[in-house]
Amino acid sequence: MRNVVIIGSGCAGLTAAIYAARANLSPLVIRGHEAGGQLSLTTLVENYPGFPQGVQGPELVEMMQKQAQVFGAEFKEGDVTRVDLSKRPFTVEADKESIETGTLIIASGASAKMLGLESERKLLGYGVSTCATCDGYFFRNRPVAVVGGGDTAAEEALFLTRYATEVSMIHRRDQLRASKIMQERLRRNEKIKFVWNSLVTDVLDPEKGAVTGLKLKNSITGEETVRGFEGLFIGIGHSPNTALFRGQLEMNEVGYLTTRDGSKTNVPGVFAAGDVQDHIYRQAITAAGSGCMAAIDAERFLEAEG
Ligand code: NAP
Repeated sequence: MRNVVIIGSGCAGLTAAIYAARANLSPLVIRGHEAGGQLSLTTLVENYPGFPQGVQGPELVEMMQKQAQVFGAEFKEGDVTRVDLSKRPFTVEADKESIETGTLIIASGASAKMLGLESERKLLGYGVSTCATCDGYFFRNRPVAVVGGGDTAAEEALFLTRYATEVSMIHRRDQLRASKIMQERLRRNEKIKFVWNSLVTDVLDPEKGAVTGLKLKNSITGEETVRGFEGLFIGIGHSPNTALFRGQLEMNEVGYLTTRDGSKTNVPGVFAAGDVQDHIYRQAITAAGSGCMAAIDAERFLEAEG
């Protein structure tokens, strides 16, 4: 039986692993299908303390993992398919293995949201992407669109200007949600164009197996237009990876786990950290901080049991 199992290997899970390993709890981290979390899908991180020149997201998570391994954290590839939190030890099933653990830290993060269009689903990987860092290179010298008005969309759009001829930011309102600094960078970049008050109603053309354009609807006038693009990047935010815990843990109406008194969930011995329980701050540094809290809470929980 394990002392601590950590689900997820983004900066919340990895920070929890560093702390739990240093507390001699030999944590097991189950890395998940989006190993490294959101940081591994980004480029330069400029606001993580300690890096005045910034640090590449994938490099930052890699260093965190190495740091956890130095203190004896173990890592397992694969996804968790089922958990039983009804009795202790808790059971976690991953990759056909059943693991028993005294405490569980959930740091399964949040995944990119999609628009929900059939054509978007069909063209995912064929011109539709949720990750500019991963796929931007394929759009050299082509016009692309980014949907969304927050920091994610802004970051995607700015990154894509390295490759694309033109990057159109399609937003459903006429004001961005992105932070001031990102808005300024967007406005200074000549390759970025804004398409305001517009909803993407269809992605063309699944029949051709490639993105050729978008059907847009003006959210004020209702007018419909078709515009040519060769790529579509979805940057409309994220939803928490909590389907596994439905019916077992308390969550809010959109599925974020509810924590109280630090990282505690409603089940004693189960703790949550990072984006899976935070729909407000969602920063690398806050995720890391809450991972630290979860490991300390798990350690104290085990200690109190004697
Ligand atoms: P977000 O702030 O929730 O923004 C999502 C954007 O997508 C909003 O502009 C929203 O429109 C739009 N949207 C949502 N659903 C849509 C739909 N179905 N169709 C069309 N548009 C839709 O999410 P985020 O950009 O992922 O950012 C989340 C958090 O992470 C924020 O706190 C952000 O600061 C942080 N973050 C920071 C950085 C950085 O510091 N470099 C990078 C990425 C993210 P409305 O505006 O109309 O709601």
